[in-house]
Amino acid sequence: MTASLPESPSLETIVNLAKRRGFVFPASEIYGGLRSSWDYGPLGAELLRNIKDEWWYSMVRSRDDVVGLDSAIIQERQVWQASGHEESFSDPLVECSHCNKRHRLDKLKDPNICPDCGSKGTFGEAREFNLMLQTYLGPVADAGALAYLRPETAQGIFINYENVRRTMRLKLPFGIAQVGKSFRNEITPGQFIFRTREFEQMEMEFFCRPAEAQRWHEYWLQERLQWYLDLGMNPDNVRLRPHEPDELAHYAAATSDVDFKYPWGWDELEGIANRTDFDLKAHSELSGQDLRYFDPEANERFYPYVIEPAAGATRAALAFMFDAYHEEEVRGEKRVVMRFHPKLAPIKVAVLPLSKKDELLADTEAVAGALRTRHNIEVDVTQSIGKRYRRQDEIGTPYAVTIDFDTLEDRAVTVRDRDSMEQERVSIDQIAAYLDARLRV
Ligand code: ATP
Repeated sequence: MTASLPESPSLETIVNLAKRRGFVFPASEIYGGLRSSWDYGPLGAELLRNIKDEWWYSMVRSRDDVVGLDSAIIQERQVWQASGHEESFSDPLVECSHCNKRHRLDKLKDPNICPDCGSKGTFGEAREFNLMLQTYLGPVADAGALAYLRPETAQGIFINYENVRRTMRLKLPFGIAQVGKSFRNEITPGQFIFRTREFEQMEMEFFCRPAEAQRWHEYWLQERLQWYLDLGMNPDNVRLRPHEPDELAHYAAATSDVDFKYPWGWDELEGIANRTDFDLKAHSELSGQDLRYFDPEANERFYPYVIEPAAGATRAALAFMFDAYHEEEVRGEKRVVMRFHPKLAPIKVAVLPLSKKDELLADTEAVAGALRTRHNIEVDVTQSIGKRYRRQDEIGTPYAVTIDFDTLEDRAVTVRDRDSMEQERVSIDQIAAYLDARLRV
């Protein structure tokens, strides 16, 4: 008997599972940990890579109108002056005069009450706190050597717009996509990997004619929502939400978020903005380089508009973990299963000999050898088979292949499906094709 327990997991449940099973560890743990920094363990590194690969495939490789880029994290300081980040990439900071804790005013439930000590009316005037992380280039830490770690990958795209357009001979509309680390000196990082000072983004700038911008905005909203659904996200857990005018970033004419239902409520997963011609124009003005697009048919020059789907890869890893988590009761026992889509699952197939006895190991190696070059597999020979299944369920491995004593006679193995727990006998010569058909979906 299988019964699904209805509650979605708490943040603590996911943090514990992530640490216990090797998805995410606290950074600098042996030194007591660095608050809000996290390291991705073997399974988390696979999950994160799979998310980025799926994004890259869907946004770049499977399309004719988008190309990729990998620009530097540290750029000339003027980039951040032109983009407006040095001036206005800030959050309103308030400090409680009772407990001295600092908070982001716009994220407080009640702007008069300190969520740490409960004091009322203890916040002074809000001050704007710039989120860019600073560093100094070269041996002397003076103002001339000041540089920033990028707070978004987007600007690397805008400053390469002309290089990319020219070398790839692109015509509007076209997109430039980039995946990589970004840094923000967040006032209140937290909720595990939801908001960190160092994180990974997956951003695409889609350049189009101004008159077509709204249509492309609509198009990308649907595309991006569908991407999460295609990767198995429960439709009840994702939604599109248009921004209120007072929420808009300094560069945006309109933005909608893809929101996810986290344990603390609906919150952002990805933002899809109409950045208008703000960035190309600003970089043209400050650099003196004409970044207008020349349309030979109309014989005119203009600044393209930009639609930007901007997703967090690390934040998506968290959302996919919440979404995948299920608890069930199986024959009176609790089963925890991560129902990751096969494309996202860190390990696709577990190869499990029923015993460590030598006679089973030759067939185990034969099966593993046939699968290893096609999928990320794990061979596990320790512990009872029940415990090994439980571990594979908890890390979300879609299939387990068991080699038992019958294998020696019938040259077949048992394949167990993670979700249905059904078992099927498949001959060793068919196992690679059997799993290919189910995993390459
Ligand atoms: P917020 O309002 O939550 O601070 P934002 O609206 O400033 O975020 P964007 O600038 O739109 O965020 O960034 C695009 C995406 O990058 C976000 O949807 C999120 O997935 C990711 N992201 C932004 N900041 C962080 C962070 N500090 N930690 C992890 N991911 C982040």
